[in-house]
Amino acid sequence: EKELLKAYKGKPSQTKDGVKVELVSNIGKPEDADKVVECDGEGIGLFRTEFLFMDRDSVPTEEEQFEAYKKVAETMKGKPVIIRTLDIGGDKAIPYLGLETEENPFLGFRAIRFCLKRRDIYEVQLRALLRASAFGDIKIMVPLVTGVDELRAVKVILEDIKRQLDKEGIAYNKDVKVGVMMETPAACMMADALAKEADFFSIGTNDLTGYTMAVDRGNAKVAYLYSTYNPAVLRAIKRIIECGKAEGIMVGMCGEAAADPKLIPLLLAFGLDEFSVSATSVLKTRKTISDCNIDECKALAEKVMKCVTEEEVLELLK
Ligand code: PEP
Ligand code: MG
Repeated sequence: EKELLKAYKGKPSQTKDGVKVELVSNIGKPEDADKVVECDGEGIGLFRTEFLFMDRDSVPTEEEQFEAYKKVAETMKGKPVIIRTLDIGGDKAIPYLGLETEENPFLGFRAIRFCLKRRDIYEVQLRALLRASAFGDIKIMVPLVTGVDELRAVKVILEDIKRQLDKEGIAYNKDVKVGVMMETPAACMMADALAKEADFFSIGTNDLTGYTMAVDRGNAKVAYLYSTYNPAVLRAIKRIIECGKAEGIMVGMCGEAAADPKLIPLLLAFGLDEFSVSATSVLKTRKTISDCNIDECKALAEKVMKCVTEEEVLELLK
């Protein structure tokens, strides 16, 4: 199979009838970018920066972060690199931050909520990101957004740091793009408004599925409800893509669903612009996309969106 997939190296990521999409990769460590290049990923759709903060006993310095972000930007040689700001809390604990244990960590003090309260930590990261933006096509992505105010707050901090950098004569990309990770039902409901102020969306189906279905994946009794095939989740995904397209911004997906051959035809039909998958899934996903015909995808999507249970959806997608 590996040999067969090699035929897709260097090929564009497009359907049989020429609908082109971007096929990029998720990474956790700067070194992972080498693997993405090797596997022919067209960029980075999600760099989970929390890994830079894990397995150590203090916050990484601005210089350490700058070097990490710069390395990824340089490895990708001008291709897009979406870097997500710190997403800790939930299932990702970092002992030295001294966070209290919470009853409901997934509904608690995590990601952008933490960062906007811990400005000392967030500003260092944003400054490192801005400095690294001079070395490639870095875009900044904000996790677990629930509304426009959070996005605005991040932009205000960024403008402050840009002024400091100007004063110090330090280079950065003045036009660095700021996007929103779409992974909460609140963001989905506000997608029309968010699309007016964000430069791009990336749908995080891992969290979006859990939050939409109100399911704690760790709880075996309700795990059966955790399914991206559930019509509720599919409607959320479709709405987010439509709202993004209505404002002309790029809409990508960096959750597991982006690499699911059953869902790819639907995502193409909805008009998803960018698929971010693990490096090892790049060629397989390119093959799946290449085997699709957009009219067939749209016909299938029309039927699927009439389904009202997960069972009905799976019957059509199998
Ligand atoms: C997601 O929620 O779909 C996602 C990509 O982010 P993470 O898995 O890191 O929460
Ligand atoms: Mg997430």
